[in-house]
Amino acid sequence: MSDKITIAVSKGRIYDEAVPLLAKLGIVLIDDPNKSRKLILDTNQANIKILIIRATDVPTYVERGAAELGIAGKDVLMEYSGDSLYEPVDLGIAKCRMMLAGLKDAKPVTDRPRVVTKYTNITRNYFADRGQQVEIIKLYGSMELGPVLGLSDWIVDLVDTGNTLKANGLVTLDHIADISSRLIVNKAAMKMKNALIKPIITQLSDIVENNGS
Ligand code: AMP
Repeated sequence: MSDKITIAVSKGRIYDEAVPLLAKLGIVLIDDPNKSRKLILDTNQANIKILIIRATDVPTYVERGAAELGIAGKDVLMEYSGDSLYEPVDLGIAKCRMMLAGLKDAKPVTDRPRVVTKYTNITRNYFADRGQQVEIIKLYGSMELGPVLGLSDWIVDLVDTGNTLKANGLVTLDHIADISSRLIVNKAAMKMKNALIKPIITQLSDIVENNGS
């Protein structure tokens, strides 16, 4: 059995909030991801490496065993179609909400409202649960523009402070899900490297239960 652990972490907001959590476990990056071009970063622990990758790629790396552990947003995990990952700890970081939103002074919607979103699976499931027919239009960013430019009636997107919606004349219409980042674990690694992975899960759970202290 290899005693190496690779942790795949989503770039951006999640990475920024994961660094202090990992430091509490005694895992500290040696390479500075802002300066280094290396994609596999060394930590102060010889057997632990960190990948900082696109959020939507994290479940793929972990499910396929390229990384034993991952830190990914619940939004990405809900959208991901694989089902062979353990999700043992809600890390309580990068919290936000998945919301349905529309124009503040919108006219009544048509029979089959159009919805722009990056989260097509979440949106499809949400409207299927409500028995409502919608046309889902996939965008990769700036979803708020959809209703503003007449591309759609509604959007489904992450909302944190609500400032982006407000600045574009949008209001929330429904709360779809609470989102936060989760620790995910490759199923085979959970068995094969349990002696290494179990303490990480236990310590992270303890840290989160004690509110990050
Ligand atoms: P806000 O204006 O604070 O409500 O933030 C909304 C914008 O930030 C939208 O473009 C969201 O897609 C993005 N956003 C909010 N929270 C998160 C998060 N936890 N992870 C990634 N993107 C987020």
